[in-house]
Amino acid sequence: MKLYMDVGATTIRCEVHRDNSIVHEKIVDESFFHESFVSREHELYALLITLLKRYPDIRFIGIAYAGFIHHGRIISAPNMEVKVHDIKQKIEQEFDVRMEIENDVNCAVLAEADDQASSDIVALYVGTGLGCGVVSDGRLLHGHASLAAEIGHIPYKRTPFHCGCGKDNCIELYASGSGMQKWKQYHDIKGQPDLLQLRQSDNHIERDIAKMFEEALLSAAGTVLTLFNPEKLVLGGGIISANPYLLEILREQIRAYALPEAAKSVSIVQTRLKDAPLEGAKYLEEDL
Ligand SMILES: [Zn+2]
Repeated sequence: MKLYMDVGATTIRCEVHRDNSIVHEKIVDESFFHESFVSREHELYALLITLLKRYPDIRFIGIAYAGFIHHGRIISAPNMEVKVHDIKQKIEQEFDVRMEIENDVNCAVLAEADDQASSDIVALYVGTGLGCGVVSDGRLLHGHASLAAEIGHIPYKRTPFHCGCGKDNCIELYASGSGMQKWKQYHDIKGQPDLLQLRQSDNHIERDIAKMFEEALLSAAGTVLTLFNPEKLVLGGGIISANPYLLEILREQIRAYALPEAAKSVSIVQTRLKDAPLEGAKYLEEDL
């Protein structure tokens, strides 16, 4: 049996698959187990112990995780409690199981590369944070300490508050759900308007927050196109699915924010996958 998980800041999704064949099949029976947990109530290590005791036949665990991961170790997670950092080592010592854990947007881009049939693809996910994963020449880009392509934390413009990474000028402070929230709090905006409501507001401060969001997203997208020259740029995450108009803005204006030739040859698309990180966790069994 195999366990796949998408561990995010607000929810954890997991699937246990029973492999119905003695050869290594990628397509397995998904109906056996499908369950969602509220992540804040379940620290990952405790949840894994519970699942491994409930399903002692699990031999592989693939996890997409919303945090910095290096060689199976959780370095940090901005929005989650981490009690056990050496999670792969500990689980593999205590159970007869192989475990792989990878940053969630890195997992997402693995699934997107397959779904979009592209070996040069960048995934830009706009949710609580602004995440980026890169597959170049068919290989997932990691970097020396597995921090490559952390586009959310490139310097952009100073803000009156700080990012989870400690800096006060990350682009994620403009183009992400958490960044938008910080600007709304800073300006004491009531009623929790979403991005589209901010954009259509008759209050110029609210419209400015939406405008800053769009400009920062264009800048982030233009930067990844210029740096990685992908064939496809796939947009995903909660903010994108709630505001598909952002795709149109990107397609119309990206040439002003990227190397023009790189912008001309790219196809900007919205994800077709319901949960790309979870789908990508299923690729972690392969050598990356
Ligand atoms: Zn940052």
